[in-house]
Amino acid sequence: MPKFVDTSPPGQCIFCRIVAREIPAAVVYEDELTVAFMDIGQVNPGHVLVATRRHAANLFEVTDEEAAALMQTARRVALADQQAFPSAGLTLLQANGAEGGQTVNHIHMHVVPRHANDGIELSWPRKEPAASVLAEYAEQLRNALAADRKRETAA
Ligand code: 5GP
Ligand code: ZN
Repeated sequence: MPKFVDTSPPGQCIFCRIVAREIPAAVVYEDELTVAFMDIGQVNPGHVLVATRRHAANLFEVTDEEAAALMQTARRVALADQQAFPSAGLTLLQANGAEGGQTVNHIHMHVVPRHANDGIELSWPRKEPAASVLAEYAEQLRNALAADRKRETAA
């Protein structure tokens, strides 16, 4: 679990300060909506963070455009990683909230080149419920999506 949590107020968080060039970072790429820089922890060489330029704490605070831009930049960086730090695999990871594993509350996506036995562990306790349970879960989500659509069209 995370050892460090950045509790700075929005706009003054570590990543806002990196985006504003107030604190140093090894920047890899930037565009209108995103900035990509080397993660200070370097789980494997080529470990990059892609952050939004605007402060948004997590996935629930970004616009559709920012969400798309994060993935587009992550893919660009992943392709560059394949040239600069060739790896058999590559993991994208985006954490939300302390329980989700997030330690810096400014949305970012990890781009991590992966190698056999590289020590990264993601425990994934499968439950495998019955098909009827899956159908119920899907219905709950369809209802939530429909409610969202209704709200959007009413706005
Ligand atoms: P999270 O746990 O929120 O998904 O990831 C936060 C990441 O930010 C960690 O991997 C950590 O190494 C990285 N990080 C924390 N502080 C700094 C910093 O000041 N500079 C850079 N480049 N990375 C940082
Ligand atoms: Zn921020």
